[in-house]
Amino acid sequence: MSPTSAPADTAALFERTATHDHAPDAPMSESETRRIADTIAMIPPGVERALDVGCGPGKLLHRLPVERAYGTDLGRVGLRHVRRPVARSSILELPFADGSMDLVTCCEVLEHLDPADLPRAAAELYRVAGKHVLITVPNREQLLMQSHRCPQCDVVFHLYGHRQSMTEDTFRGLFPAEARLTFGYSWRVRPYVPALLALRTKGLGAWKYSPHTFCPSCGNEAFTDPLTTARGWLAWKACGALNHIVHPLRRKWNWLLLRVDKPGA
Ligand SMILES: [Zn+2]
Repeated sequence: MSPTSAPADTAALFERTATHDHAPDAPMSESETRRIADTIAMIPPGVERALDVGCGPGKLLHRLPVERAYGTDLGRVGLRHVRRPVARSSILELPFADGSMDLVTCCEVLEHLDPADLPRAAAELYRVAGKHVLITVPNREQLLMQSHRCPQCDVVFHLYGHRQSMTEDTFRGLFPAEARLTFGYSWRVRPYVPALLALRTKGLGAWKYSPHTFCPSCGNEAFTDPLTTARGWLAWKACGALNHIVHPLRRKWNWLLLRVDKPGA
């Protein structure tokens, strides 16, 4: 991914993609339902106050089995849908006191940040949490799978603004040494052979498409769904068929879950 591919304003990108257009009670995909259930299953007993950072329209926040749960997000569009108390804020400067929440959740957020901001974001989550931080991110995401190349300015960008591929190693050393880290995984997917994926996208131009696609670099909104052209359809199907031969099974975990327990929690 080109470093120039990401937008300066992550919240602005969110507000222009489909991510927050959905009402919180719209039907969720099977994979998302599973991820949220697996996330909630990692919440230890004894949590009375929780904060969901990057809550969006409240998909997780509304389902948190916690009496007093609050949300915060930088984007305004998502917050409008939330039926629990919210505050608009950046993850880099949370308007909550040290240790004021038993649990701080931050799900499908950190992959959107400038990687240079990750330590500060982690420090904020840890600061506000009295006992636990619960994080989910895409696991070892193959960023090219959700990327497109702008035909106007040639920039390759991730459709949902993801800026890094994250693993367990991303989080080791990110929290104080006394914190206890517990990792979990959710939902199996089929991996894509990296060389085949590069061939399909960079080589043959069959990029991932969404009707909400716009270029975060030049603002272009004219994109073509590769499946609507003969060449794109053939590239997509041929590479997919080869990939199925190499990877017949869905063996890759799609999401990484992490619970960070503070000492004595
Ligand atoms: Zn462009």
